[in-house]
Amino acid sequence: MTFALHGLPVSHGIAIGTAHLISHALLDVHHYVVAPRAVPKELARLDEAMATVQGELNTLRQSPSAQAEVAAFIELQQMLLQDPLLVEAARGHISERRCNAEWALVQQMEVLEEQFDQIDDPYLRERKADVVQVVERLVKALLGHPGYAPPKKRDGLPSIVVAHDLSPSDTIHFKDSQIAGFVTDGGGATSHTAIVARSLGIPAVVGLHNVRHLVNDDDVLIIDGTRGVLIVAPDDRVLEEYQLRRATLELERSKLKRLKSAPAASLDGERVMLEANIELPRDTQAAKDVEADGVGLFRTEFLFMGRDELPDEEEQFEAYRSVLKAMPNRPITIRTLDIGADKALRGFEPRSDQNPALGLRAIRFCLAEPRMFHTQLRALLRASQFGRLRILVPMLTTAAEIEQTLVAIERAKAELRAEKVKFDDKVPVGGMIEVPAAALSISHFVRRLQFLSIGTNDLIQYTLAIDRTDEAVSHLYDPWHPAVLMLIHRSIQAAARAEIPVAVCGEMAGDPKNTRLLLGMGLREFSMHPAHILEIKREILRSDAGELALKVGRLMKQDDPARLREAIEKL
Ligand code: PEP
Ligand code: MG
Repeated sequence: MTFALHGLPVSHGIAIGTAHLISHALLDVHHYVVAPRAVPKELARLDEAMATVQGELNTLRQSPSAQAEVAAFIELQQMLLQDPLLVEAARGHISERRCNAEWALVQQMEVLEEQFDQIDDPYLRERKADVVQVVERLVKALLGHPGYAPPKKRDGLPSIVVAHDLSPSDTIHFKDSQIAGFVTDGGGATSHTAIVARSLGIPAVVGLHNVRHLVNDDDVLIIDGTRGVLIVAPDDRVLEEYQLRRATLELERSKLKRLKSAPAASLDGERVMLEANIELPRDTQAAKDVEADGVGLFRTEFLFMGRDELPDEEEQFEAYRSVLKAMPNRPITIRTLDIGADKALRGFEPRSDQNPALGLRAIRFCLAEPRMFHTQLRALLRASQFGRLRILVPMLTTAAEIEQTLVAIERAKAELRAEKVKFDDKVPVGGMIEVPAAALSISHFVRRLQFLSIGTNDLIQYTLAIDRTDEAVSHLYDPWHPAVLMLIHRSIQAAARAEIPVAVCGEMAGDPKNTRLLLGMGLREFSMHPAHILEIKREILRSDAGELALKVGRLMKQDDPARLREAIEKL
């Protein structure tokens, strides 16, 4: 039977394929009874998983970045792994009730969770999260970690991934496989999972609530990533209509390619820089294909995620150098690690009772992990001699963070100088404006930094107090909220007065609905996923920047949100 589900459109286009359901450890563990003769095999599976997790924890403990506190957590997890209350009880469920190993573990975890909830001592109560983490690791090992198998093509149709939720590091795996699109129960439109989908150029719809249970493996699916619709088991007529729509979209895209070599300039001759956001060095190919003016944001955390050992200085140096060499003579903005929130490193996952978006994230994390930060700064500085590098620091909030970052950079430079290693002593250091406090104290930022980049995804999240990954509040995520626009406008104006470059690198920059507004605010540097560059260029070529400046100047005085919205739509 055909039916349609509506969610949040996060990556445009139309995909037609067959469903490939992927499981999420703990949420999707299968429950089944094993045959009596298969019980020893099931127990052996559990033993193997324990050995794998033991190995993982040992590696984490020995990693150079494991600080004393982290080591203590790892030790605790190692103890839990040996605890008869967890493992022996799970073995009991397997032997006596013939449960499969995953189910046995999850059942015992639930028993322990209940017991922890009864404890008065808040410290001990919090240890519940460690039990969950250990079980999660074991279940992942049982499922043959990383739990994600590249799907195969069926009936000539590519696969569409259907999941409860995907982490950004799950999504990055799609870069290596032929996935036509994906749909999830959870997620927000500017979550990093959605951002990676856009960078892959594959249609995606998130926030479908119950899709994982309504769709079966191999069902034929159509994703309309522009309207946020998923059609399950379409009949021939619907299928034909969408095939036609897909062909029309492809034609439009190929027409846009003609704009590739045209410089991005407004009708009145204002030159605008259109740069690329990338996650991995190989994404420079997509940036070159559309003749991007440079890289406005290289999210380096993707080099660190989804792996057990962190990249060392050499590996990072090679990655940064390869980006600089791939696009010579163009500015390459490399952001220091923005780990935390929805981009967790293995071994640094937040506890379930924390709010990771407000926690030890981005520059806060780097300043708390000086060794890791120092390694990255050395690698960046060493790479700086191979092109026009700019170092961008995420989520700066206080003057002290700026000073500490600049000191850390000076320290890395002094060390390299002493070692007689070449680097560009004048490499510009810039800051991301993504916290309202930064936008409101912008005058200090422009004095201490050499460029700014406005991260609207986080700026909106923090201004409006809306978790960008939570579909339950995604209807409140509003780039045109007067408070958001005021902060963006102030930041652009402050940078112009201080005569330092300012870019927007959040998703707003790649959405044609905002191009004229941002141009009118005085923005001349837009950074976005390469897939959007030509569409934004088309908007710029049609716009008169001088005229827009006057209109936007008037519009920014409007304090009625509905009228403001109307005026932006008419721009
Ligand atoms: C932003 O916050 O707008 C941004 C570009 O950074 P990220 O999306 O990686 O948090
Ligand atoms: Mg951000």
